[in-house]
Amino acid sequence: MNDDFDHESPEPTPQEAEARAGLALELRKQGIRDRRVLSAIERVPRRFFLTANLQKHAYDNTALPIECGQTISQPTVVGMMTEALDVKPEHRVLEIGTGSGFQAAVLGHLADEVHSVERYRTLADLARDRLSALKLPNVTVHFGDGMLGLAEHAPFDRIIVTAAADKVPQALMEQLEDGGKLVVPVGPSGGIQELVLYEKTPNGLVERNLGAVRFVPLLPGAASSL
Ligand code: SAH
Repeated sequence: MNDDFDHESPEPTPQEAEARAGLALELRKQGIRDRRVLSAIERVPRRFFLTANLQKHAYDNTALPIECGQTISQPTVVGMMTEALDVKPEHRVLEIGTGSGFQAAVLGHLADEVHSVERYRTLADLARDRLSALKLPNVTVHFGDGMLGLAEHAPFDRIIVTAAADKVPQALMEQLEDGGKLVVPVGPSGGIQELVLYEKTPNGLVERNLGAVRFVPLLPGAASSL
């Protein structure tokens, strides 16, 4: 059925609109209840963020391979992390790990300003093109090492890390606004990782575990090739 998608246009065919609504319904069944989050996910054409051979799986609720050996997250995980982040329309958000740009596009529908950092130049360039084709001028993609955060645009109301960290990088905690929230998968590469939500309160950091996840690792430095 997904062969009926129009691959050139961001406007959905009726078949694609149906697939997108079906995915939103599936996420609701999985426990994601925030309407703003569900509708933001439904508005983003996920096929745009995939290579041509995988576009037929765009609205399956699964993680999929993208360029540079990386992964676009499972939609349920995008929903869970975005819901936990509790993004308000006036917020400035930082994402570490642009990957395909899908999560950044979802955030672009929810926040005032989104900055996303990627260590592969190829991925950063592709994501930038996709986001501009989708007319999301409030999302900026930066090429570099996200472990350092983005000091020139700090502080951020919300920070989301979409690669697994052994330890939360200090720079990210420092660049989080007072009262801000940060969501990050913590744990070893290839092992059990916990999704953790941190909140910076006047009494210090409050931490909440949101469950087990599996992400590609957060690696130091910008990638030297690609
Ligand atoms: N959010 C993405 C999926 C991310 S996959 C999406 O919606 O498609 C994780 C990404 O984090 C990969 O692209 C990887 O290259 C990137 N990454 C890993 N370490 C990084 C770092 N230190 N700085 C920036 N990006 C990093």
